[in-house]
Amino acid sequence: MKKLLILSAFVVPVFLASCGGGQPKTESESASSEVVSGTDEHANHADAAEVAVQVVSNDQMKFDLSEIKVKAGEKVVLTLKNEGTLPKESMGHNLVILKPGTDMADYAMKAINSKDTEYIPSSEEGSVVAHTKLLGPGESDTITFTLEKGEYEFLCSFPGHYSLMRGKIIVE
Ligand code: ZN
Repeated sequence: MKKLLILSAFVVPVFLASCGGGQPKTESESASSEVVSGTDEHANHADAAEVAVQVVSNDQMKFDLSEIKVKAGEKVVLTLKNEGTLPKESMGHNLVILKPGTDMADYAMKAINSKDTEYIPSSEEGSVVAHTKLLGPGESDTITFTLEKGEYEFLCSFPGHYSLMRGKIIVE
């Protein structure tokens, strides 16, 4: 009898530990199911905390927002508009979100030499969370992404723009 009690006392913590260990697995499962979520509307709505953000750029080399606040794990649908009239070749704009810890000046420097890929240096893909395409006058582009808690810097990587066209996304 005594032996049995000891055994059950031992079994409980093991169960808890394996339960805790199972949690990250559940998260990654729900993340991957997002891709196929069209088949299950309920699951889609359950984690569809979604926020729309609009950023406007112009011929004055400005974004109208320098700080964006979103919640961790929520789906961010970001639209960049270019309200300028100058041609894309001289005043194009994009919005590139960098991973925390990325050196923005370094990224912008590499972007200058990446005209063929619209100033998105392919060698720096690992430093980018998401980016819009390069927009000419009157154009817009929408990107969707989800962020973890932290601060993310964004910039326009068109040559010479990042010193004015930059900001941060604060994820709480
Ligand atoms: Zn720009």
